[in-house]
Amino acid sequence: MFIGHFGIAFGLKRWAPRASLGELIAATTWADILWTVFLLLGWEHAAVSVGDTKWTPLSLYDYPWSHSLLLLAIWAFVLATFYKTWRNDWAGALAIAFGVISHWILDWITHRADMPLVPYGRKFGLGLWNSIPATLVTEFAIFFAGVALYAWSTRPRDRWGRWGFCIYAALLIALFVGDRFSTPPEDINGIAWTGLIASIVLIGWAWWFDRHRTSGELPLMSELTTRDRNLEEEFE
Ligand SMILES: [Zn+2]
Repeated sequence: MFIGHFGIAFGLKRWAPRASLGELIAATTWADILWTVFLLLGWEHAAVSVGDTKWTPLSLYDYPWSHSLLLLAIWAFVLATFYKTWRNDWAGALAIAFGVISHWILDWITHRADMPLVPYGRKFGLGLWNSIPATLVTEFAIFFAGVALYAWSTRPRDRWGRWGFCIYAALLIALFVGDRFSTPPEDINGIAWTGLIASIVLIGWAWWFDRHRTSGELPLMSELTTRDRNLEEEFE
């Protein structure tokens, strides 16, 4: 899955307003970030094999460390504990843990049976990628639900908060569709480097525009002044 992971992160902001969207995206895409690093280190392996499923030309035959449920559960615990100690925010810590685990569930729905429960153990997958229409519908449904929740529970403070968010969402859709309908890449190292750099840019960008939006619990400056003005009028 691709933009579905971003959809979950956007949606989690509704329940974890103090966590940055960048942190939530790092959590929901944590498995794929590890995967790009482990591919480059040669600890995990993948191959380009056009037609592996209808959606992807990648055969994901060996990723016991980045994509097993057991290791992701351990990462969820470690990252959530780290976040809780650092930020003292329970809701954010729970959202981080949920985000890391949700990656396995979404990939289990989309991948063919290549998702291990434990490293080198039995593998599972429902194979949504065998149908292009079903993949598009599912990914877009999760993505737009998450983006809508985010748009309802946060508000732009300025034009960076508004347009940074809009352009980001549009870019993700373009990358998602473009990825499927472009010529399949040839070399796994290239895929890993592109994936890693894209992750850093997309997390940084989300962190940045999220700082230019406010999360419901804090009133906007403009509202504060109107309210104060009303109070003053009442007083007079
Ligand atoms: Zn994945």
